[in-house]
Amino acid sequence: MSALNASVRAAFLAAPGFMPEHEGLALHAAAVEAATHGPLLEVGSWCGRSTLLLAAAAAAAGTHVITVDHHRGSEEHQPGEAYHDPSLVDADGHVDTLGTFRGVIASAGMEPHVIAVVAPSAVVGQYWRGPLGMVFIDGGHSETAAQTDYETWAHHIVIGGTLAIHDVFASPRDGGQAPFHVYERALASGSFTEAGRADSLRILRRTAD
Ligand code: MG
Repeated sequence: MSALNASVRAAFLAAPGFMPEHEGLALHAAAVEAATHGPLLEVGSWCGRSTLLLAAAAAAAGTHVITVDHHRGSEEHQPGEAYHDPSLVDADGHVDTLGTFRGVIASAGMEPHVIAVVAPSAVVGQYWRGPLGMVFIDGGHSETAAQTDYETWAHHIVIGGTLAIHDVFASPRDGGQAPFHVYERALASGSFTEAGRADSLRILRRTAD
């Protein structure tokens, strides 16, 4: 069990994003184990906050994290929406998180361990063939986006590998339901068994085809 390096932890805490520290540490611990099964894939890089945690785990196992994002923000990040950040807008007025993402990854010395793919998740998935030790779904939170991410990536997880899902709220009072529906779908598939949780983070292990 490799603990999170202090400088990576500091960069994680300083980075913009939505992953609380206790959930992040649980994600890192799951990723350390999962990286022994193969590369890690994250859907939804945003500014790289959780990518750093996956990168540190990948580095410890001699593998990489592939992180997929169009870097134009989800519905809730657009101008006028609840999670819009005016500091993350390009000269044309479009949300653009790629530059900030690169700075965050570089600040922690994690560039050698990160493969950033700039495109929508489903588009990248059309070309993906390789087995994965972990998939972390933290992209768009609409029902269509979250379900598409599951359909695109979950079947690439090796037996013994990990499916992690962020922002899982059983009650609509606490948050949007799409990640919760993906979590329920994964369990109902018979391929995944719950292996851990931290607040809205769910860790599932692939136990069957
Ligand atoms: Mg999230």
